[in-house]
Amino acid sequence: MGIVEKMRLDGKKGFVTGAARGIGKCTATAFAEAGADVAIVDLDLATAEETAKEIAEATGRKVIAIKCDVTSEEDVQAMVDTVVKELGGLDFCHANAGICINVPADEMSYGQWKKNMDVNLNSVFLTDTIAGKYMLANGGGSIINTASMSAHIVNVPQPQCAYNASKAGVIQLTKSLAIEWAKRGVRVNSISPGYIGTDLTLSSPTLQPLIAQWNAMAPMGRLGKPEELESICVYLAGDTSTFTTGSDFILDGAFTCF
Ligand code: NAD
Repeated sequence: MGIVEKMRLDGKKGFVTGAARGIGKCTATAFAEAGADVAIVDLDLATAEETAKEIAEATGRKVIAIKCDVTSEEDVQAMVDTVVKELGGLDFCHANAGICINVPADEMSYGQWKKNMDVNLNSVFLTDTIAGKYMLANGGGSIINTASMSAHIVNVPQPQCAYNASKAGVIQLTKSLAIEWAKRGVRVNSISPGYIGTDLTLSSPTLQPLIAQWNAMAPMGRLGKPEELESICVYLAGDTSTFTTGSDFILDGAFTCF
């Protein structure tokens, strides 16, 4: 069997959080194109349903939409139970849902800080441990978390201390779980994208005006596309990455190299 065939995900089942649009939609599409059945998990059920239909029609795979607030333990447990019941198991997941709050630290309320931490970091603990417990008891699996280049550098000029801290936390959580579960068949890795053209950046009234400045700083002079994150996630979800755990993959067009 050639390497392309070995990388396929035929017969595997997984879910992606924050998959109604953006990066999550893209990786969910790639997982289905590679042969997996996938759940599109999001707060926004109407868009998640459209996305699920679109991917199912394009790939012929079973693709379901599940409404879930990833900050709710009850919702995440119910979501994992639904994935297992509807898809027939759980082999991989991509904990990807996230938000960005751009407020100077001396103006940020504690509520804003906690909201950011809840959506970007506490949710990853919930998703990884609830999915992980199923995988540990059922033959193993692969977990992918979305961190950010903001875990490695402090982005400028926008103020985003809570975002940066939450994403750094995602990487250390990833490494910690990878070590705890290394001998028990569950791998945990993260991706750290640079600036990517999604609604989070292109439709944000605070971030969109900064894109020209970011591009001027970027070695490639442009934003990344969500599609440019797909292949690493298919690799991490599948069986050619069985010695890869506890790693963070920076996909930023060399933005963090200087
Ligand atoms: P996006 O805003 O386009 O999509 C995020 C999705 O997450 C939305 O569909 C939203 O409804 C969902 N979501 C938000 N809160 C949720 C919750 N509590 N429960 C369930 N779903 C929820 O964002 P994106 O650009 O696709 O970002 C996806 C991930 O990638 C985020 O973790 C983000 O921090 C990270 N990231 C993005 C960039 C970038 O430049 N776009 C760069 C680095 C990392």
